Amino acid sequence: MKIYNSATHAKETFQPIEAGKVRMYVCGPTVYDNIHIGNARTFISFDVIRRWLIARGYEVTFAQNLTDVDDKIINRANEQGRTAEEVATEFSNKFIDVMHRANVMDPDVRPRATKEIGPMIGMIKTLIEQGHAYAADNGDVYFAVRSDPSYGEVSGRKVDDLMVGARIAAGEAKRDPLDFALWKAAKPGEPMWNSPWGKGRPGWHTECAAMVHRYLGCPIDIHGGGSDLAFPHHENECAQATCAWHEGFANTWMHTGMLLVDGEKMSKSLGNFFTLEEVLEKHSAAALRLLMLQTHYRSPLDFSWERLEGAENSLTRIAGTVKNLTWAARHAEGDADASLAAKLNAAVDAAKAEFESQMNDDFNTAGALAAYFQLVTEANTYLDQAGSAVDADAALGAAASIAGAFKVLGIELPEPEEELPAGLLGVAAGLCAYTGDDVNEAAERILAARAEARAAKNWDVADAIRDQLRDMGLMIEDTAAGSRIKRA
Ligand code: AMP
Ligand code: ZN
Repeated sequence: MKIYNSATHAKETFQPIEAGKVRMYVCGPTVYDNIHIGNARTFISFDVIRRWLIARGYEVTFAQNLTDVDDKIINRANEQGRTAEEVATEFSNKFIDVMHRANVMDPDVRPRATKEIGPMIGMIKTLIEQGHAYAADNGDVYFAVRSDPSYGEVSGRKVDDLMVGARIAAGEAKRDPLDFALWKAAKPGEPMWNSPWGKGRPGWHTECAAMVHRYLGCPIDIHGGGSDLAFPHHENECAQATCAWHEGFANTWMHTGMLLVDGEKMSKSLGNFFTLEEVLEKHSAAALRLLMLQTHYRSPLDFSWERLEGAENSLTRIAGTVKNLTWAARHAEGDADASLAAKLNAAVDAAKAEFESQMNDDFNTAGALAAYFQLVTEANTYLDQAGSAVDADAALGAAASIAGAFKVLGIELPEPEEELPAGLLGVAAGLCAYTGDDVNEAAERILAARAEARAAKNWDVADAIRDQLRDMGLMIEDTAAGSRIKRA
């Protein structure tokens, strides 16, 4: 498997530190608001990367933090007259919930910055002892960037170039404009913790380094985030960890491209800013994932409502093919043409091989999906040509392969609607004198008759309906969205 390492600018053959195991860390959100679809692009990309590593048989340990103390959270709390903790708790919960809805797997470890103050203080102490950090008179602690000879290697920057335009802002007590805060002295009204340097709170870059070390151990195999994090965040994480522990930090750095809306940067002022939550209110997670995965994770991703609509239509078409293959296999009649079936089997094998090779080539989901779009076209051709004389094994094999490939990418195909037996027409005729020939309509009438019986506490009638359906191998499923008749 090859992975593009953004620190070396090269596709490298992936070799985990420990055979068969992958330890990966992806920076999580700062929880001061609902996440937007740009954040979602990054989290969904790494979800797919993780899923593919698991599918390849690796035992993956995936850690992701929640930045629950930060200027943005404090500002939001002050605006709303709430505590920073209240804001952070609300948006941590919302983040976890919306990730579930986007079918993003939970991390194995989800450390929160406010619960990791001890390990962060420990790391800062180690850095001071080794001459890589210093406490200023005002209670801030800074990392001395020039003390790290490898500073710049993650993001490909040179320290001298960084000096251009670098300034020490008012209120900062740095010795060198390049230095960054590991610990910020307490300001009134802000969350604060005790430390050897007085009350204060950690700097943003500090948490990830301490968490990687604590929960995964240094070095890790893969460290990821959006490309906007490469500098300074990842550079600074790496500087702290390598200077504190001298074990290396991350073997492979992976960065996702930015999401754009209709070709423009997403921003509230342009009115093209969308939260993940609002997108998932209008569209399925499967369609959003399909749209996103049709672009390679490193390329900029162009989001538009038209493209999302298009992805929704593609999914319906693919799910339709899976359903038709399954239906045709169940209703197969006559002698199947062996050469047509062999051609379909070969197309399945080819799609599978192409999918794997594309995914093994730096997680090229766009290429992997294209292989399966091709298979869907070939499966449709097969169904046209075979008519009712379908080879059941070949058709079911193709259906399973298509559904399976999408599932590996975390794209659940819409459940095909179940076909209900014609016998329901008779039940509806007996119950409510239904004389039509539409089975779905008959099912609706039966459900209405049952609801009416239950409302009138005519339990015998309701039970009789249930028994009649059961004799036909059917059951009634009552859900929040309503009742439906389905195969038992
Ligand atoms: P933040 O909460 O701002 O730290 O962002 C969480 C994650 O989303 C980080 O990995 C960012 O790099 C990523 N991210 C932010 N904006 C975008 C965007 N427009 N496209 C892709 N990823 C983004
Ligand atoms: Zn981080």
